Amino acid sequence: MFHTYLIKYGEIGIKGNNRHVFEDALAKQVRLKLAQISGDFEIRKERGRIYVECSGDWDEEETVSALSCVFGIVGICPVHTYELAGIDELRRDIVAYVAEEHPGSKESFKVKARRVNKEYPLDSMQIDAQLGEAILEAYPQMHVDVHHPEILFDLEIRDRVYMYSKVLPGPGGMPVGSNGSAMLCLSGGIDSPVAGWMTAKRGVKIDAVYFHAPPYTSERAKQKVVDLARAISKYTGPIRLHVVNFTDIQLAIYDTCPHEELTVIMRRYMMRIAEHFAEKDGDLGIVTGESIGQVASQTMQSLLVTNAAVRLPVYRPLVCFDKSEIVDVAKRIETYETSILPYEDCCTIFVARHPVTKPLLEVIERSEAKLKGKIEELLEKAIYTTETFTVKPE
Ligand code: ATP
Ligand code: MG
Repeated sequence: MFHTYLIKYGEIGIKGNNRHVFEDALAKQVRLKLAQISGDFEIRKERGRIYVECSGDWDEEETVSALSCVFGIVGICPVHTYELAGIDELRRDIVAYVAEEHPGSKESFKVKARRVNKEYPLDSMQIDAQLGEAILEAYPQMHVDVHHPEILFDLEIRDRVYMYSKVLPGPGGMPVGSNGSAMLCLSGGIDSPVAGWMTAKRGVKIDAVYFHAPPYTSERAKQKVVDLARAISKYTGPIRLHVVNFTDIQLAIYDTCPHEELTVIMRRYMMRIAEHFAEKDGDLGIVTGESIGQVASQTMQSLLVTNAAVRLPVYRPLVCFDKSEIVDVAKRIETYETSILPYEDCCTIFVARHPVTKPLLEVIERSEAKLKGKIEELLEKAIYTTETFTVKPE
């Protein structure tokens, strides 16, 4: 029985002098994630590798499932460890290992040993040859293929002998927190949770803002957004969620501005409020689920006008994704089923029948100027009545 996982990481391994910063960030995220499940875990960093030693009442499936949500991990290898002993014992150990991990195998294989402990009397090539021979003697139906083996037996000879042959997939990306933080505009739709997940995958910590419009949008619509934040927090870690009451601003726009411009003006106010909270939370950008051409408010012209409302960069990870590609990711990260629940969104209530698809900034600014005198107070009120709380994984 094994009780150690070797964590393989990709990109963070090539960060030169900053490498240890990323390794520390990854080790920290692994530690935080494993603290949420049962078992005792010791995380060890050793020569460019991270090992997780499991003890107590840990469960294999639960542990792998937790690790597979930690960005920065590309592979999770269950490692068997054996006492450091002579080659005869090692031959016996690898035969037992094959019986346990690859029973009845008829596959091709290769043994690749690394002698980290230089005191060991045999060199790596001698160990490979000895162990290959031992496997062939015990399991004559297996065969050696040094170029394209179906099973690669990886061995490290250290203070103990570490042996593994299976690499379970991790989510890739970079550890959360290694690349600053951003404010996600999180609606109840399919796109924005995916956009948040993708941003976090690049190591960015996520804060979020949701605009609701009671009584036009219900408590259930808000709960749906909390549920979506919770679903992605499995990957992103805890999310600070700001719930902004947007009703009065929306009504003011509705009463004052041309109806075909409602959506784009509303989106500009959303961005301004998102920027306010982003600056307060120390975020370096705003993230949305927008995609070119998806709806009238996401044409190139509309995106330009929306962008012009804020100074912070607006990141749109889905900008060139088709809807079907977004849906695929949403299903994979398990937000889809929640996203398609049919609760009304504040944008759907105040939409014009024929919204502008090519808004001009000067025209929109002229319409917004009509809100002067009353909008300032409404913005202030929306900000100070905002409810902020932290959403954590279940
Ligand atoms: P989604 O894009 O999440 O599927 P949607 O398609 O209903 O939802 P759009 O109207 O396309 O939303 O809005 C584009 C983007 O604007 C969203 O992806 C989200 O980032 C942001 N957004 C829209 N409505 C809200 C809201 N009520 N609160 C916070 N952000 C919002
Ligand atoms: Mg959308």
